[in-house]
Amino acid sequence: MRAKSEQLIERARRFIPGGVNSPVRAFKGVGGEPVFLRSGEGAWLEDVDGNRYIDYVSSWGPMILGHRHPDVVAAIRKQAQLALGFGAPTELEIELAERIVAAVPGVEKVRLVNSGTEATMTAIRLARGFTGRDLIVKFQGCYHGHSDSLLAKAGSGVLTLGIPNSPGVPEAIASQTLTLPFNDAGAVRRAYAAYAGRIACLILEPVAGNMGCVPPLPGFLESIRQSTQEDGSLLIFDEVMTGFRVALGGAQARYGVMPDLTTLGKVIGGGLPVGALGGRRDIMDHLAPDGGVYQAGTLSGNPLTAAAGIAMLDALNDDFYVALEERTDTFAAELRALCVRHGRRATVNQVCGMFSIFFDAPERVTAFEHVANANSDAFARFFHAMLERGVYLAPSAFEVGFLGAQHSQDVLDATLAAADGALAAI
Ligand SMILES: *Cc1c(COP(=O)(O)O)cnc(C)c1O
Repeated sequence: MRAKSEQLIERARRFIPGGVNSPVRAFKGVGGEPVFLRSGEGAWLEDVDGNRYIDYVSSWGPMILGHRHPDVVAAIRKQAQLALGFGAPTELEIELAERIVAAVPGVEKVRLVNSGTEATMTAIRLARGFTGRDLIVKFQGCYHGHSDSLLAKAGSGVLTLGIPNSPGVPEAIASQTLTLPFNDAGAVRRAYAAYAGRIACLILEPVAGNMGCVPPLPGFLESIRQSTQEDGSLLIFDEVMTGFRVALGGAQARYGVMPDLTTLGKVIGGGLPVGALGGRRDIMDHLAPDGGVYQAGTLSGNPLTAAAGIAMLDALNDDFYVALEERTDTFAAELRALCVRHGRRATVNQVCGMFSIFFDAPERVTAFEHVANANSDAFARFFHAMLERGVYLAPSAFEVGFLGAQHSQDVLDATLAAADGALAAI
């Protein structure tokens, strides 16, 4: 029973567009009405009607230690007793920056902002300012927040400049974005040949996580590193999701490919609003106040977020990710085995702490096309069958599930038991 949630969405719709403050929360991707939540602890959520769920949304990534982790909560409490913010420098900002620089190989200096969107938007401005070029390259199916330049879709053919994929984005801006197929190194080489000396940067999710989980093919990251370098164009890894998620040092540490700039968010804020951009010192020094590329933020690096982020990063280390990877791999293998047992054709992709299930998809899901052609109706049925069995998955076939420290063997076993029932029911 979710009577209270149903009342709340009606009330919310009167005052908030669509009733939500971020579109995916409205359940349009799976149908039905959203669940209103009121508390969380570890792997568990409780909704306003008192129903309990095992959570795989994890606040879209930050909750890698589970809800209400005692160290993070204590750090926020302690800071709240001192001050909520000044808009002036604090030592906490240095402490968070030091931890990020120590962990992420491509980051020599870092600027804190308030969201992943801000981080990627600024990274692109910085790349343009640094190179003196205007064009940017992104991949189909990768999400980098909602700034104008990054809301472009592919034109009629590969190698044509982008067209807006949202009303309100001027064509003149979208046309500066070239959108290529993910995992297609040849398309990147051809783009750099066709637009030699004109592309400021290429931005990508090194493990795609916003079209479901799609890992890079072997050699893909190395190849785009070479294409960008040869052209004097910058490579930006958008690690807002993969940073402190697929390894302590993010995807760049995991795959050993060094970008020029890196964007971060999610985990580094301990659950509070955050973003960051970092990279090579010579590029980062082009940001104001030392350089001419402008960026600023009233609440950037605020002490509550910084304190939460520090507590979070202090709880993470290389061993944590070894264990998380092992648990993710086993869980994915068991989910695959369940699909086989129920005669459901499904592909499960996973990379350390991220997983997704694609129904009626090719055996190997490596491209946006594979994801786009998967059976999203089957996913919607699976989603609701899991929800009824007390498992809260992301309400969209194009999102990943997040595992963290909170998903103990007991929790994973309960999830697999629910999946067994759900796969029988759909
Ligand atoms: C979540 C996400 C963003 C946007 O971050 P917000 O904080 O929602 O603005 C950007 N890039 C990637 C890869 C993300 O996963």
